Amino acid sequence: MYTCSSCALHSCTEENPEKVPKNCPMKHPQLLEEAFQEYEKPENREFYIKSTEIEQMGYCRWPRLKETLEFCKQMNYHRLGVAFCMGLSKEAKIIADIFRKHGFEVVSVICKTGGIPKERIGVPKEYKLKPDEFEPMCNPIAQAKLLNEQKTEFNILVGLCVGHDSMFYKYSQALVTTLIAKDRVLAHNPAGAVYCAEGYYETKLQPGAEF
Ligand code: SF4
Repeated sequence: MYTCSSCALHSCTEENPEKVPKNCPMKHPQLLEEAFQEYEKPENREFYIKSTEIEQMGYCRWPRLKETLEFCKQMNYHRLGVAFCMGLSKEAKIIADIFRKHGFEVVSVICKTGGIPKERIGVPKEYKLKPDEFEPMCNPIAQAKLLNEQKTEFNILVGLCVGHDSMFYKYSQALVTTLIAKDRVLAHNPAGAVYCAEGYYETKLQPGAEF
């Protein structure tokens, strides 16, 4: 099992490492070479190089929104998709308007599209936010398929729920970037809980603790 997150050596960041941990993934050169060959494929090569160039171009200066804009320009995209959560409708509009000002066509699809009640897929009533009212299910597969149908070249995800985002990634034909990772209590900054995990949130994040 690989445990890079516990590695103190980080020999992979050295040009010719003398020592690597026993369970280092680098002890699988064949697998690593197979992975490298994937970057050489035409559908990956330019995408990968441009995204690496963007890292350098705005390093520690550009917020992610600007990085995303510049990446889309570098890739010469024309038609973008925005898959967004209803709770971030305002943000989705701001984002779409900014991209349009920069010359992109933007197709956007909200998570509640289809208006299908949660009961239809089998969500128990007690897991609805308002159990006795009509509550449409989030529909990330439809969001992806609608953007596929619109032939978007690249999709930008804005605040889809944990797990719904995964289904969007699975069904989107275009590659996806996440501009906003939803966190309803931390102003969409999930890293905030990580930064507090050894402080204010320490006890709250223990197994069995009440939040
Ligand atoms: S790849 Fe190897 S050296 Fe790099 S962090 Fe993982 S275990 Fe450590």
